Amino acid sequence: MAPNRRDVGRNWQLVIVGGGLAGLATAASCARRGVGPILLIEQESRPGSHSSGRNSGLIRRVAENPLTTRLCIEGADEIESLWSSRRENSPFRRSGSVIFDPSGEIADGCWSQVSFRRWDEDRFRSMFPEFQQLPPGEARFVEADGILEVPALLGHFAAQARDAGVELRMGSHAHHPRIEGGRFNSIHIDGVEVKSAALVVASGAWAGQWSQAAGVPIEMTPYLRSCVHSDPIGHPPRLRPWIWAHDPGWYLKFGIDNTLWSACEEIADQPGRATVCGDPWQRVKERVGPSIDAIEALEPRHIWAGHRNFCRDRQFLLGPDPRIEGWHWAVGLGGHGVTASPAVGRRVAAGIIEGLDGLEPELCWSEERFPMNRAGTT
Ligand SMILES: Cc1cc2nc3c(=O)[nH]c(=O)nc-3n(C[C@H](O)[C@H](O)[C@H](O)COP(=O)(O)OP(=O)(O)OC[C@H]3O[C@@H](n4cnc5c(N)ncnc54)[C@H](O)[C@@H]3O)c2cc1C
Repeated sequence: MAPNRRDVGRNWQLVIVGGGLAGLATAASCARRGVGPILLIEQESRPGSHSSGRNSGLIRRVAENPLTTRLCIEGADEIESLWSSRRENSPFRRSGSVIFDPSGEIADGCWSQVSFRRWDEDRFRSMFPEFQQLPPGEARFVEADGILEVPALLGHFAAQARDAGVELRMGSHAHHPRIEGGRFNSIHIDGVEVKSAALVVASGAWAGQWSQAAGVPIEMTPYLRSCVHSDPIGHPPRLRPWIWAHDPGWYLKFGIDNTLWSACEEIADQPGRATVCGDPWQRVKERVGPSIDAIEALEPRHIWAGHRNFCRDRQFLLGPDPRIEGWHWAVGLGGHGVTASPAVGRRVAAGIIEGLDGLEPELCWSEERFPMNRAGTT
């Protein structure tokens, strides 16, 4: 990659590393609030090449902890409002969802924020006649949940950012951040040093490497999860609520052209191109098989994997890092980064403009969240 000579001697107000949903939402929010000039760097040739382009597109309000649930609700409301005037062919469709959580993985403090209805077996079977056996637990129907064509959201954030003057630079690699006297000073882009007043690290699975490079360790693990498209199920195929069974762990999204399945596996991995591990379709059949006999007759059409990136406490890591002035995080979005992305962008922008007062302390770096061990790592 040839270095970009335009960068020599140029000062940016903000550089954002990562052109996934976290980086693009942050760029759009910051630019809207008057931060600039802003440069966003993405190493791939197009935005959303990693987690943001390899997910299931479920808009799910209720998450595993109350704070993530709050961000998901905010994000889901904003996503729905983006296309509310376009009923036909809207990238967001309010399908509803049915969630089974027999072991209480989702805390009461999450459910209390979301409007849902309990469905009895008859109600469930009338909507899903292909089930021989219901997953364990109570069926909770969340009417406001939905499905999203994720490229439309990526395109929305990118257009907002570009229209507000953000330079989106694809196919460029950011590296070697320089910290001087406890302050972020510059990074290198394809070998050229670029000065900026602030940096947002929105690098998804690579966040741990950035923390090492800056000497501010955080523990961040990318976990592989696979998805499978099969032929559509249901006669005729139609939009129906997606289903999530927390025990034994699988989900299913009904589409007109296909059905999406996942066995919800979590396989610890390294940053990089996520590749399918083992036989995801076999895992889906083992988990879903007791509920839907018809799965035996289906063939997988397309199988892919992506990274869900988690801090150890499974909370997002957003906002200023108090160890380095000018250093901000937008990482650790786990399995909710599509739904929560508008809220993430707003929080990170608030952190840049208002400092730590601009966002919930539980989302930010602290010694309690990332305790150091004797080796000086987290
Ligand atoms: C299988 C699967 C299903 C999912 N389903 C859902 C769902 O239904 N609903 C939901 O809300 N969420 C879902 N998620 C989660 C969601 O996809 C993620 O939380 C979200 O995409 C994370 O976005 P991100 O911007 O943090 O990461 P990414 O999209 O990975 O973006 C990070 C970007 O940083 C770039 N980068 C890294 N290092 C550098 C560098 N040095 N220089 C330049 N660029 C760099 C990378 O190339 C990458 O494009 C799912 C995830 C997976 C894997």
